[in-house]
Amino acid sequence: MRRIGTVAGMRGAAAAARGAGQRVGLVPTMGALHEGHLSLVRAARGDSDLLVVSIFVNPTQFAPGEDFDAYPRDLAGDEAKLAALDGGPPDVVFAPDVAEMYPQRPVTTVSVAELTAGLCGASRPGHFEGVTTVVAKLLHIVAPHAAYFGRKDFQQLQVVRRMVDDLHIPSEIIGCPTVREPGGLAMSSRNDYLSAAEREAARSLSRALRAAVEAAQQARAAGAAPDPRALRAAAAATLGAEPLVRTDYVEVVDPDTLEPPDQSGEVAGGDRRLLVACAAHVGPARLIDNVVVGDRDDEARLLAATGSSRRSGPVHRLEPRDHRR
Ligand code: AMP
Repeated sequence: MRRIGTVAGMRGAAAAARGAGQRVGLVPTMGALHEGHLSLVRAARGDSDLLVVSIFVNPTQFAPGEDFDAYPRDLAGDEAKLAALDGGPPDVVFAPDVAEMYPQRPVTTVSVAELTAGLCGASRPGHFEGVTTVVAKLLHIVAPHAAYFGRKDFQQLQVVRRMVDDLHIPSEIIGCPTVREPGGLAMSSRNDYLSAAEREAARSLSRALRAAVEAAQQARAAGAAPDPRALRAAAAATLGAEPLVRTDYVEVVDPDTLEPPDQSGEVAGGDRRLLVACAAHVGPARLIDNVVVGDRDDEARLLAATGSSRRSGPVHRLEPRDHRR
């Protein structure tokens, strides 16, 4: 495993691998690596000859007043975790500094419309433009055959997929399941900000999603299609009941378009998929989580992770990857 800090060095290493007929994989991260990130690296490791993990806290996706300065940074610790990874370390840690990635004030950005209008896009104006711009840069620098993203950031995953489709970027985008802590809290670098009491309260995000899944199951058991309004109400009530949590949003949308679903409950051709997504402020952290109701694997993972607070370990790797939608 070697560290590369320059765009030219990274471009050269990836080009050499491609020239030698090797398959190149990329896992973009902002560092402070946890088991969620590592699950992406494991999935990518099995598919890649040259595996690149990028570690870059991208300033352009943080708004003024957000946690860019406070965001945890520990490159040495991250490299130690990667070096020790079961399944094998990546070949390259691409860790450019801000001046390397943005040598001049950028006047060119990549922005994806429509899919970024709601959910986190509504709460964090400009955030996704920062994300898609830096991901486009990384995809151009590394030119991977495949890039791996977590379903934890479901809107980000769909936005990146759409960008890659619209711009004909020749990288496959692979979505990997959310890794949760015992009790169900989705792993996040921002969980580091939480006190013990806040961490306990933060479990209400995954509990809220569980309430929505259970409401869907009850509807199905009664022979009815899950009603998006009922799912949203069940999740919002659970989240709203936790005093240390301030709800940002609870939304139920179509997982492909991220638009509100048709309220009729009719679905052409089978099980209706609904994205239940939530965001909430817990102490100093803004946390997000989601589940796709109607995706039986995603439902099962969420139910297993939230079923007991006494699980012996995180629920992960039930399904190494989830190709396209
Ligand atoms: P970040 O460092 O927060 O930008 O995340 C880098 C990548 O890791 C993104 O694709 C995230 O969706 C993914 N990721 C973060 N947390 C998790 C998690 N708990 N489970 C799975 N993937 C995750």
